[in-house]
Amino acid sequence: MEYTTIITLIFIFLEISLFVCAAISWQLKEKKVHKEMSLTLLSISVPLIGNLLITVSFNYTVSLIGYYIYLTGTNVLFCLVTLFFLKIFFPEPKPFFTRLLLTIVALDTISILTNPLIGHVFSIEPVIGNSGHTYYGIVSFTGHYIHLISSYLLFVNILLILCKGIKNTPNVYRERYIVILISFLITAVWESHYIFTKIPVDVSMIGYAICGIAIFYFIFFYKPIFFISLINRKVLESSSTAYIFFDRENNGFYANAAARTMLSITDSSLENSFSQISALMNTDLSNTKSTANLKSTRIGKKGSLLYYKYAFTPILDAYDNFLGSYFTADDYTSEELENQKQLYFSRHDSLTGLYNREYFSEKAEKFLKATDKNCYIMVLDINDFKLINDIFGYNEGNKVLKKIADNLRSGPIDYPVYGRIGGDVFAVLATEQNIMKTFEGNKNPISLMMGEKSDYPVLIHYGIYKIEDSSMDVDFMIDRAFMAIDKIKNDYTQTFAFYDNEIRNEKVWEQKIVGMLKEALHSNQIVPFLQPQIDSQGKLTGAEALVRWIHTEDGLLPPYKFIPFFERNGLITVIDQFIWEESCKILRRWQDMGIKDISISVNISQKDFYFTDLYKTFSSLVKKYDIPSSLLHLEITETVVMSDLENRLKTLRDLQSAGFLIEIDDFGSGYSSLNTLKDIPLDVLKIDMLFLYKTQDQNKANIILKTIIDLATRLHLPTITEGVETEEQLKMLIEMGGDTFQGYYFSKPIPLDEFERKFLQNDSLN
Ligand code: C2E
Ligand code: CA
Ligand code: CA
Repeated sequence: MEYTTIITLIFIFLEISLFVCAAISWQLKEKKVHKEMSLTLLSISVPLIGNLLITVSFNYTVSLIGYYIYLTGTNVLFCLVTLFFLKIFFPEPKPFFTRLLLTIVALDTISILTNPLIGHVFSIEPVIGNSGHTYYGIVSFTGHYIHLISSYLLFVNILLILCKGIKNTPNVYRERYIVILISFLITAVWESHYIFTKIPVDVSMIGYAICGIAIFYFIFFYKPIFFISLINRKVLESSSTAYIFFDRENNGFYANAAARTMLSITDSSLENSFSQISALMNTDLSNTKSTANLKSTRIGKKGSLLYYKYAFTPILDAYDNFLGSYFTADDYTSEELENQKQLYFSRHDSLTGLYNREYFSEKAEKFLKATDKNCYIMVLDINDFKLINDIFGYNEGNKVLKKIADNLRSGPIDYPVYGRIGGDVFAVLATEQNIMKTFEGNKNPISLMMGEKSDYPVLIHYGIYKIEDSSMDVDFMIDRAFMAIDKIKNDYTQTFAFYDNEIRNEKVWEQKIVGMLKEALHSNQIVPFLQPQIDSQGKLTGAEALVRWIHTEDGLLPPYKFIPFFERNGLITVIDQFIWEESCKILRRWQDMGIKDISISVNISQKDFYFTDLYKTFSSLVKKYDIPSSLLHLEITETVVMSDLENRLKTLRDLQSAGFLIEIDDFGSGYSSLNTLKDIPLDVLKIDMLFLYKTQDQNKANIILKTIIDLATRLHLPTITEGVETEEQLKMLIEMGGDTFQGYYFSKPIPLDEFERKFLQNDSLN
């Protein structure tokens, strides 16, 4: 092929390449200098065209045009390259020297363009090239020399900018600029060679075009390989994971710092460390083609257990050729210990170290699945734990909990599972043997005392559920054990109770009636029945109002069917207030009927003292119905008063001075203390004689009864004796000095209309 053709093809190829690169560069918007790069590439293409015309043309005019394009084009090119590097290395403002040079080059360009008029720069003349063709070579005048000088100055300036920039660039990035600098220098030498030897065919623009493409590549796409490997190394060395790299012969060639310390790899042992890691992973890894993982433990230097994760990864190329492999080891001891700690705390109670509720259930479930023994769920509940905290402080309260925990943990009985499932509640899964041993001899399994003199016993109630269906949810079992406790709550004599179905039925019943109470009150299902009180002359003196629930489904409910539940949840006050008001209505009715001396006794329960202002309630009731307060008798048991003596005595005194009569109910049946008679403001003593009849020795009972009546007489306290069922009893009581009597002998509690018919007719109804 001819020389000119080859040169032409090279020029065209470079020209196209420049355009393509310029277009790509223009699109690379994310790069900082993408526009400048694009313009610089285009600026190279202009003198390249000029150079092409000079090189391949044998025509005077075309050559002349080529020279003009070439000379002005190189000026533009150098200017843009200068600006480009300035932009990369030096932010504004542009150095003075550079500005001066740019001005000179601008003037030089004007000078070149005026050459056709003045002829002071150059002319062209035919020369014979190496190939024998006639070219047009340049004949330089002063203007051209000035052009060459200014161009060289600008070029040298470019080199200086590059050098300075390279100097200021971190080591690892220098390589890309050094490549650019070197290619510039080569091109400059190449071009100078043409200029000074006056060889006719100057193709040095090829060099500039290549430089331009090189700049494009190195600035935008070149990744600093040295830097990357440096980073890799740094990361590896500082990693806490141990890395060992092996070549395809399984010879170790690199181990990072972690590997050297963790696995004691030395420079000499590195090469043969493959067998060492095979041993660590318990397998021969030499033919492993896929990743292998293993978790393992080791005993550390200080004797503690260390946790390791090992991984072996072969490296294959795209054609599955084995290239080598690497091994990693991680010491995840602290992570593992943290996990274990968290797991522990998620399963254990932090105060006592026992299982928490969830974990207790989980463990109990597991145990029940595995055993065929008869098992029980036992719940321990500290009575009045709030009070213990209150009196002795939280620390002492916590000590109690810890002592109970210790007792479960290291006491004489090995319970299979136990935990603390609530503030003051513990749960135990026990075998039948355990249970028998726990309550052997009927003494308290855990006896604890509080206070400086150790005189405050901590009462623990045990609710026990015998597991019949071990697949039942443990939470249900716990609930049932709790129900058993409910039965004996506040009972100081009985510490443990077994769950039976009766308890469950009771619960169901409780739920049912609690839900129905409101409706019952509204629809007059709740009514007072009256039981007469008769004096020794057989004359009616009063009546006791006793609540009845005329239930739509279950018929007439006596108080024991519902009172205890409402007493527990406090709703009793709602019922009581209703009965009090109904009693007042009856008294009003009797007043209207002209019966002005028959009283009604109403019952007051413990909770009424908590939830109502009794003085206010009763005062407003008698006011509302305009009845004498002396006709309303208030029945209170001793125990109710004793639980908050000061306040309750005051209330009673207030009520008494407002004219109400206070009756002490069930006297003698509970823990009666004669002392109370001294302190409590009371008007009538109600003696429950029923308790006396349950005894073997009737004589003794009678003596006690007589003593109580005597005592009352001497204190000038009228008495009402309850539970009079026979004429004999009545006679005996009259003999003993009893004043008033109440009992089935006269009548059971009956509805108002019946009461009026039976007892009031003689008085006024006829
Ligand atoms: P209590 O106040 O001691 O009432 C006397 C109980 O003895 C009544 O039972 C009555 O029917 C029963 N009774 C009377 N005479 C005899 C007798 O000769 N033989 C026998 N075996 N029993 C006799 P009741 O009506 O079932 O009431 C039981 C308890 O329920 C009452 O004992 C009282 O503590 C409570 N109660 C009843 N009504 C109310 C009320 O409106 N409010 C409150 N808070 N409690 C009430
Ligand atoms: Ca009563
Ligand atoms: Ca009574």
